[in-house]
Amino acid sequence: MTIERPKADVVIVGLGWAGSVMAEELTRAGLNVVAIERGAWRDTSTDFPPAVDADELKWHTRRTMLQPMSVETTTFRNRMDQTAAPVRNWSAFQYGWNVGGAGTHWAGMSWRFTPWDLQVASQTRERYGDAFTDSLNLQLQDWGMSYDELEPYYDRFERIAGTSGIAGNIKGEIQAGGNPFEGPRSRDYPTPPLKDSHWMSKFRETTQNMGYHPFTIPAGNLSQAYVNPLGVNMGPCTYCGFCDFHGCGNFSKSSPQACILPVLMRRPNFTVLTETEVLHAVKHEDGKTAKGVRFVTKEGEEGFQPADVVVITAFQMDNVRLMLLSGVGEAYDPVSHTGTVGRNYNYQTCSSVTGFFDGEHMNPFIGGGALAVQIDDFNGDNFDHTGLGFIGGAGIMGYSTDGRPIQRMDNLRPGTKRWGSEWKSGYARDYGSNGTIFCQGTSMPVRDAYLDLDPTYKDRHGQPLMRMTFDWNKNDRDMCSYVTDRAVEIMREVGGSDIIVDNQADKSWNPYMQTSSHTQGGAVIGADPTTSALNTYCQSWDVHNVFVVGASAFPANAGYNPTVTVGALAVRAAQAIHQTYVNNPGPLVDA
Ligand SMILES: Cc1cc2nc3c(=O)[nH]c(=O)nc-3n(C[C@H](O)[C@H](O)[C@H](O)COP(=O)(O)OP(=O)(O)OC[C@H]3O[C@@H](n4cnc5c(N)ncnc54)[C@H](O)[C@@H]3O)c2cc1C
Ligand code: SF4
Repeated sequence: MTIERPKADVVIVGLGWAGSVMAEELTRAGLNVVAIERGAWRDTSTDFPPAVDADELKWHTRRTMLQPMSVETTTFRNRMDQTAAPVRNWSAFQYGWNVGGAGTHWAGMSWRFTPWDLQVASQTRERYGDAFTDSLNLQLQDWGMSYDELEPYYDRFERIAGTSGIAGNIKGEIQAGGNPFEGPRSRDYPTPPLKDSHWMSKFRETTQNMGYHPFTIPAGNLSQAYVNPLGVNMGPCTYCGFCDFHGCGNFSKSSPQACILPVLMRRPNFTVLTETEVLHAVKHEDGKTAKGVRFVTKEGEEGFQPADVVVITAFQMDNVRLMLLSGVGEAYDPVSHTGTVGRNYNYQTCSSVTGFFDGEHMNPFIGGGALAVQIDDFNGDNFDHTGLGFIGGAGIMGYSTDGRPIQRMDNLRPGTKRWGSEWKSGYARDYGSNGTIFCQGTSMPVRDAYLDLDPTYKDRHGQPLMRMTFDWNKNDRDMCSYVTDRAVEIMREVGGSDIIVDNQADKSWNPYMQTSSHTQGGAVIGADPTTSALNTYCQSWDVHNVFVVGASAFPANAGYNPTVTVGALAVRAAQAIHQTYVNNPGPLVDA
């Protein structure tokens, strides 16, 4: 039997951060919205009560909250001349699959991208010239809009999320203690910065003495009680140290559960169908617009949800896959260099440097998902790249994000046995006395890093899996090696011994190493429909009532985590839909 649902003004596919932000804006504007989420309902009181939340074995080791591989996976290869095979273990990506999406179990590092990140192609040419830019062999492209255009939407998302931090630049005025390299903000963060751990204080003092500019990173772990613009109350973070991969039982972590769902669920013009998976969007016969989405319930019943507008917010990888499965836009072909859906796939280039400190107490059990001090002196284009042969960089942070005892069992001085009494005494010695510097770097697009539908492997519904073709490119590797050297210098200066360096980009990329959870691109925004799948309102150039929001929209990745930019794009797209599109359906930008 096929379920035929009543028509909605808007159907939203996936109810993570992007879907929740969209649903909130659109229902507040009076539209009738149905969200379809393939995961289950989760909320703070029933799923993450403080008394049982800190269960590392359940949430981190067994990854109970993540989408099981049996639901869906991707296939992967480094190069086009290889055969892709299905990924059997989530390490490099961790997909959410519950109401709230990965926003339920993210860490909370809450960055804006910089003006340079959004205009990397034109600003690189302007600063270093055509010859240097061409020599990089990158597929650089601007986002089609400036940082100033995105700023009000960044501000709105931060207000909803209650982001804690210290401003470095308010309306062009550099602020003491903040990040002097950030783009101009219209006002300060809604809540003050978190407190330093002992390791963060050491990192801060050392980098300050080295002439750099340390600041507390912006966090979705709230430093104080806060009421957001939707009227939702949030509590201060207790620095419990069980944050990413876990839900927050304390109402302190910015998440759809804490910030949006309590309001959204009370609106009569909002409906959510949980444990229901969208198979693809269905187009009208003329192919110019979509008429709704086909879905399948947990019981295996198929159905159709008609809607005037289809919004796909199913996370980066599934956004691209759903576009391809729905025939929305032309698939990218790296050989003929035609098509745009799947183009400009990019990841994040990371490394870490760990040092050990005899007799010191770093107290790692005091932690927060986004508890860190960072320098941006080697991020983006904040330093002169003349003669370096690469562009981009990384934020370099001293962090205290977690003290999880199972995860840290292997975080021991080199040479320590990993079993028996030596391991036990080594663990007792090292657990509390090490500090890690993490470099979170840019990832630049190249022509042959892309996403398409796998020709062989299918999911449980018989639809092709996504195929990923990706490896670090020369720019990623050179950048990472340069920045990692800077982190090693800092670790030496701060006095760490037995230094362990893990530069992920000095070997081929593979999905079984966890470097970051940040996977981007594939359905990118831009001003030119020949190089972007979407305009800057995240509207498909080809099927104008389909909007696709997520990190899939990023033409290149910055040296920052993606979610605040995803949230800003969601607010901007939602406002364009209810303020302009529904009154005058059609392309919001001329192709
Ligand atoms: C462990 C971890 C830590 C992280 N830490 C940070 C951090 O510190 N800072 C940061 O900026 N980012 C961080 N991230 C990334 C962050 O979680 C994501 O950027 C963000 O959640 C993306 O939001 P989204 O709405 O685009 O996608 P999601 O939150 O993934 O939501 C998408 C939803 O769509 C649903 N869905 C998918 N396909 C379908 C379908 N076919 N039908 C119906 N529903 C579907 C999924 O079940 C999911 O619930 C982290 C991620 C992880 C995994
Ligand atoms: S560290 Fe703070 S925000 Fe994270 S789970 Fe613990 S209390 Fe919540």
